[in-house]
Amino acid sequence: LEQTPVRTVVESGIPERFYRWDLHPGYQQVRLLQEGAARFGVENPFFKVHEGTASAHSRIVEKTVVNYASYNYLGLSGHPLVNAAAKEAIDRYGTSVSASRIVSGERPLHAQLERAIAQAYGVDDAIVMVSGHATNVTSIGYLFGPNDLVLHDEYAHNSIIQGISLAGAKRLCFPHNDLEALEQILTQQRRQAERVLVVVEGIYSMDGDYPDLPRFIEIKHRHRALLMVDEAHSFGVLGRHGMGIREHFDLDPKDVDIWMGTLSKALAACGGYIAGASALVENLRYLAPGFLYSVGMAPPVAAAALSALQVLQAEPQRVSTLQQRSRYFLEKARGVGLQTGASTGNAIVPVITGSSLRAVRLSNWLLERGIHVQPILYPAVPERQARLRFFLSSEHTLEDIDETMTILAEDLRA
Ligand code: PMP
Repeated sequence: LEQTPVRTVVESGIPERFYRWDLHPGYQQVRLLQEGAARFGVENPFFKVHEGTASAHSRIVEKTVVNYASYNYLGLSGHPLVNAAAKEAIDRYGTSVSASRIVSGERPLHAQLERAIAQAYGVDDAIVMVSGHATNVTSIGYLFGPNDLVLHDEYAHNSIIQGISLAGAKRLCFPHNDLEALEQILTQQRRQAERVLVVVEGIYSMDGDYPDLPRFIEIKHRHRALLMVDEAHSFGVLGRHGMGIREHFDLDPKDVDIWMGTLSKALAACGGYIAGASALVENLRYLAPGFLYSVGMAPPVAAAALSALQVLQAEPQRVSTLQQRSRYFLEKARGVGLQTGASTGNAIVPVITGSSLRAVRLSNWLLERGIHVQPILYPAVPERQARLRFFLSSEHTLEDIDETMTILAEDLRA
């Protein structure tokens, strides 16, 4: 009896890589990266532990650093009102709603938050889900199917691609912000598909640029396609009051069929939302698997997001400060000769370093000098396009930015 398992392995003829985690191709890749870093003597720049609130300034390894690696764009994570709202929600409702909302997880905070989001967009309704990534996966995955076509910008976030895979729809990507390429695909393929969805982002997180949304709207109307905008990085950032790319271009909100965003960035919480027509939101509320079969948003999280949205609306100067600081950063960076790609100076400014190795080394060197910025490496970007990605916050001071530029200029001269 004792020998049975051994014999099973030997006789099965099934290669070990099919049942051993250490032979999984993903893990092999992780090991390769770790061994490469060790060989070049570079410290792992990932999973840095922040010991307090991660805002423009953060404590890492017992040192306060200027932090450019968090999406706390408006400094609302850690804001006293937001913290107080989360604490009050815990006292009233506990830390979990302990069920899917459809069965017994509904709390007043959910509807309040959804109403506030729908009003911010000027649309019928909104629905919040427990993660931004899951919101894209389950919404696209549920709403579209094998007879549909989904077209997305080549820089679309992973959650969009995963959602399309789940839908089983035909997926095609168009070159970044290339309206003519999109038009060409639609002209050739529109009639072979039932529903056609075009997905773009309000601000692209690799470069900090944004699409010419009015032209996308014009194209989508002409081809009877649907348009989805992921506002993960643009809500709270674009527009005079931070109401996103819709406010920036002064658009009719109904011209976009699916407004999507996250609560984890400017809104200082965790989760995602879809905003739009009642028929869309009601459909998701009753049938989207990632909503229906998942727990409702935790009370402190919903309360924090709602409070952050209220602070954002009461204090639009946070948005203008963020916009000014971002532009100041971009101008200074260009001034000292850094490669900033296509950045428009809206919260995200990449500094392109060339190789991945140089990006990691520079990131580690900057941390020693009190600046925390994350490297973005191949395969997230092409190898010669590795970069440091600076996320600005309304809490960064001009002095922070000046000091960062002095240190970066020192590196350039070396
Ligand atoms: N969409 C985009 C464009 C994103 O950048 C991200 C996260 N960085 C997400 C969706 C997922 O959001 P979350 O991190 O809140 O799950």
